[in-house]
Order: sequence, then structure tokens, then C-alpha cells
Amino acid sequence: VTHRLPSPGAALVGVDVGGTKVAVLVVSPDGRAIGKAVAPSTTAGGDALIAVIESTVQSALQMAQLPLRDVAMLGVGIPGRVDPDSGHVELALNLNLSGFPLSERLEDRLGRPSVVENDVRAAAFGLHVRGITTPAADLAYLSVGSGIAAGLVLDGHLYRGARGLAGEIGHAIINPGGERCGCGQRGCLEAEASGLAIGRRAEAGVRDGHKTSLRELAGSSISARDVYAAAAQGDPLGLAIADHVGRRLASAVHLLVMTCDVERVFIGGGVSHAGEAFSRPLRSAYETLRSVSVTARELLRPDVIEILSVDAEPGVWGAVAIAAEAWKRLRAEGAPGIDSDGGSRLLAPSK
Ligand SMILES: [Zn+2]
Repeated sequence: VTHRLPSPGAALVGVDVGGTKVAVLVVSPDGRAIGKAVAPSTTAGGDALIAVIESTVQSALQMAQLPLRDVAMLGVGIPGRVDPDSGHVELALNLNLSGFPLSERLEDRLGRPSVVENDVRAAAFGLHVRGITTPAADLAYLSVGSGIAAGLVLDGHLYRGARGLAGEIGHAIINPGGERCGCGQRGCLEAEASGLAIGRRAEAGVRDGHKTSLRELAGSSISARDVYAAAAQGDPLGLAIADHVGRRLASAVHLLVMTCDVERVFIGGGVSHAGEAFSRPLRSAYETLRSVSVTARELLRPDVIEILSVDAEPGVWGAVAIAAEAWKRLRAEGAPGIDSDGGSRLLAPSK
């Protein structure tokens, strides 16, 4: 994965808002990373979040030695349902936001135009723009963290679907009758293979009397990181859970390939950083799916899965990519004042 964007022609800022942290990346007009900052996130509502974003952006700009007025556009990726046209966050449960005019509020504070997109969709678009695949490529980004979601780039365009929900594969039922999910269904991918699901499965295994080193952690909550660390040491419960997750995620990759005919499925998110203990069972389950017939091998190409390294930072680069796209669009439309300091209202919703 390249660590730059093909020359956007102006300085851009990407903001990746998560439930635990806010990360900011400043990119130069020739597409290089020139400033970064990270701060703890907040669930105290819109005002508090705007304040965190503002101060984190200022820190990153300081590192880049770039004045705010030289920033052409900000892109914000946020975990939730957003309306990219108005820049409103419709619903972000983890951040305690609903119907929040994020873009407008940010522009009030920073005086620069901004765009907002769902974080995983933005990351998928960023992977496309970073030139890893061919321009018209079809790809999916599968984020496996405390939850699971995907973003789709089809025929070179970010695909949102009718309501912006395209890629919500976390609630695709992948194991009918399986684990109960927060959405009310059973056997959703997220209930079977997310970081939270992995922890729950380990705790259940300990309660059921499995012989495991994870027993020492019982009482405190067991994390996915603990489970993969145990699996790496050959712990039987850790290995069994890693296998289970590998099979479910291989099914998810299969589903993405068969429904959207994507060429690549990039996998990122906290759980995917567990190294071999994570990747080996996934690749082996994928090989098992391929091995059943000549047809299966033809449908599922061997090089579809790419597990991103920690330093690929799909979130912030995705936010920069949507900023670059919006900036290009505004310039093409010849929006008045685009090159001056007076651009702050350019993307305010038209009422
Ligand atoms: Zn669900």
C-alpha cells in the first residue's frame, strides 16, 4: 500500500473519528504526509467532538508547519450513517450523535470547507485512490474491529447504495441460528467474528471449563488481542476461536466476491493486526473454500485477500481521499472563491 496520494494539487486534511481516538493527517499538494496528530475521542456529544477535532487538526498543522488558510479542504470519516451531500451525521451510536451538522459546525470553527463520509466507505475509496489497483478496479475494504463493516468501490466509484448502507456486511447472516447480534438477528458476521464477539466467545469457553491459559484473565474482560496472543502460543481455546473467526471471515470474503465480483478484498481494523494467528486460519479457510472444485477455484482467485499492515492507516488516508475528490469536484464546477480564503461556506447545505 502506497503512503501517498497522487498529487491532489492543494494541501488537504483528513480526520478519522473513532470511538476511542481522533486521528488527523495533513497531506501536501504533491500528496505526501506532512503532519499527523492523534487525540482521545469523546462521546460527550457534538460540541465536545468538534472541539477535539479542531485542536487535533491544529496540532497536525503545527507539525506540518502549514497555516490553516492554506488547507483547501478537510475530509472527515465517521463511524455511522452520514449524508455526504449535507455533511450531516444522521446516526453515530458509538459517538452519541444524531442529526448533527458536522460539516457546517466544523466550517464555522475552522473557516475551511469540509466533507463527511462513513469511515469504512472513505477507507475503501482511499485504498482505490492510492493507486494500489487499476483505475476502474472493483474492490472491497473489510474492517474487522470491535464491529465489522465493509466499503465498496465498484467500477472505480465509491458505492453507497440507496440509503448509504452498502457494505454493512456486519449484519449479513453468515451462520443461521448462531450467536445473537445487537441488531436482534442471530448469526450475523459481526456477532461471530468481531473483536467483541471474539472476547465473548473466549469468556464462554472459560465458563464452559476449557483448559486454557485465558482462564487467568477471567474476571477481567478477555480481548481479541488476548485470544490471538494465546493462539500464537498454541493455546487450544485460542486456536479454536482463531479458526472459527478465520472461517467466518473467509465466508465474508466469498460473499463479497460473489455478490460484487470484486478483484481484491483489503482487510484492516484492530483485530486484523494480530499477525499470523489472525491471517493463517483466514487464508487456510479461504483455500478450503477454493479447493472443493475447479469452478470454485475459478470463481475465487488466490490473490483476492490482502491484509493491510498497521502503518497502512486506511482511515486517515480515506478521509484525505474524500477531501481530494470533493476538492476536484468543486474546482471542476468552478465554484466562486475556491482559491481564496472565503471558501468556508462553499459546501454548506443549500436550503
Ligand atoms: Zn446483526
